[in-house]
Amino acid sequence: MKKQNFIRKVFLSMILPIILIFNAGLYAAENPAAPKPDYDVIVIGAGMGGLSAAAHLAVKGQKVLVLEKHFVVGGSTSKFTRGEFVFDVALHEMAGGGPGKMDRGLYQLLKATGVDKKVELYEVPHFYRSIFPGVDITLPPNWPGFKSELKKKWPEESEGIEKFHVLCADLFKDLMELRDLFRKGSVSGAFTQILVPFSQPTFFKWKDRTVKDLMDHCFKNEDLKAVVSQLWVFYGASVDRESALIFMAATESYLSDGAWHIKGTSQALADGYADRIRELGGTVKTGSLVTKILMENGRATGVRTADGKTYTARYIVANTDPYQLADKLVGRENLPAKYLAKIDAMKPANSLFGVYIGLNIDLKTLGYNDTEIFYNTYRESMKNYEAMMKGDFDKGAVAITIYSNLGDPVYAPKGKSVVKLDAYSDISVWPKDRAEYNKLKAQKVDELIALAARVIPELKDPKNIIVKEGYTPRTIEHFTMNKGGVVYGFDLTPDQWEKVPNTTPVPNVFIASNWTQAWHGVGSCQINGWRAARLILDREGIE
Ligand SMILES: Cc1cc2nc3c(=O)[nH]c(=O)nc-3n(C[C@H](O)[C@H](O)[C@H](O)COP(=O)(O)OP(=O)(O)OC[C@H]3O[C@@H](n4cnc5c(N)ncnc54)[C@H](O)[C@@H]3O)c2cc1C
Repeated sequence: MKKQNFIRKVFLSMILPIILIFNAGLYAAENPAAPKPDYDVIVIGAGMGGLSAAAHLAVKGQKVLVLEKHFVVGGSTSKFTRGEFVFDVALHEMAGGGPGKMDRGLYQLLKATGVDKKVELYEVPHFYRSIFPGVDITLPPNWPGFKSELKKKWPEESEGIEKFHVLCADLFKDLMELRDLFRKGSVSGAFTQILVPFSQPTFFKWKDRTVKDLMDHCFKNEDLKAVVSQLWVFYGASVDRESALIFMAATESYLSDGAWHIKGTSQALADGYADRIRELGGTVKTGSLVTKILMENGRATGVRTADGKTYTARYIVANTDPYQLADKLVGRENLPAKYLAKIDAMKPANSLFGVYIGLNIDLKTLGYNDTEIFYNTYRESMKNYEAMMKGDFDKGAVAITIYSNLGDPVYAPKGKSVVKLDAYSDISVWPKDRAEYNKLKAQKVDELIALAARVIPELKDPKNIIVKEGYTPRTIEHFTMNKGGVVYGFDLTPDQWEKVPNTTPVPNVFIASNWTQAWHGVGSCQINGWRAARLILDREGIE
């Protein structure tokens, strides 16, 4: 082991810098001087990936233009208002840390851009309450509390509970050590990868395994396995198919660095980014749909928008899915067959279906203190998953978020409440014909409410409901332009955990969205933005 560490140190201190300099030199040589473009970087889309990329570039002096088709920034990370109620479009709990925790991961990046000064993050009071036949348990968002609640109920599994904690922590440590791997050239990257089995053994051991493998490795009791793996409903695949990596990393982040929300809704985070980008001299334009990336000699030269305007830039970052990028923006004719075959062969994750509800009763005073409840018809995640995929929402699982219990008065006036219900869904369930779609949506909204009413019976009484608005994969597809309304990117099975890289075959076009590694979610997409920015800054020789 000592010998391996020595070789690694020598490599990192002496050989790696030489390789990086050599790679940078090669890039500069193939990048001839061109007429001065309007911008250094154009970012297509103002979701978390796009905004984060723009902020990291702007803070390093790059002239950026962000073009967003919608009239507000944020993508899924936004809000809307119905009468006296305010709804967070998506965010339940954000991983990645916040003030007062270990200085690692996302929060470090928020500080690097100065966006931390624009938003107030607060920790959610509960991690989650998990309910399925025979079990109802609430877990706090920190390791000591999480472990102690589990041990109280399953004392005979104490050793496995500790083992689970150690594995998640070790995996996170390994990922942090590998976090710059994406910046390395092919030679230095390959060298690092050769050392992975010795240097990052937990990552190496679990990279090809599922959450089910992890549960079976740590625990014997099937109820305990179902409770600990409950957050499968945040990551887009059932436990038997889901990559152990994302699950372990997110669990460690939530339980060591906190589960976070944003004061004033998640829109405040998106707005904070946009403010900061403008403060740094960047431009953020809403109502601007990009229809084409302009290409010349295999490189992007700028973009065209739906209103016929063109903007030129040296680099492009697409906060889009790779399909829009290939089919509409760059054009398949400009991409190598190998890349197209790869994205065509990969399987996108499921989308979501849900209901935003404004109630004229205060759930807290009625005794509901929860913020995040998962109600599962079955203990087995696969059975819930299959029911939801078929559109049988009354037999699946539902995430019930009581936003008005988060402690932020923004959501509902006194004496009233805001609740959101989310379930998994596939776009094929939802007819394209408008009349049929509306009819099915109304029916399924009531089915999902009936499922949630098993936990909150007050939802059954129509007199309590002032606002009831459903969304489907078609709604998400319309607002984010993600294929199939997918907000998880590629299905996170062990064979797809690497997703697609932030680089593309076009040397000055990058992707930062939920389709790229570091995975999906409000926190991870910001890391994707940083990665795209970092790759551009590396090419510019900016530290
Ligand atoms: C209901 C729901 C609940 C969720 N809950 C959580 C949660 O609790 N925790 C968590 O971490 N994550 C959660 N997520 C997932 C998270 O919100 C997403 O993974 C993340 O926000 C996606 O960010 P993104 O950078 O990929 O951009 P997106 O949000 O997909 O936004 C892309 C943006 O680009 C714009 N755009 C696309 N193409 C163009 C174009 N050609 N021209 C101009 N603009 C364009 C779109 O209009 C959009 O604004 C949830 C998502 C949903 C929908």
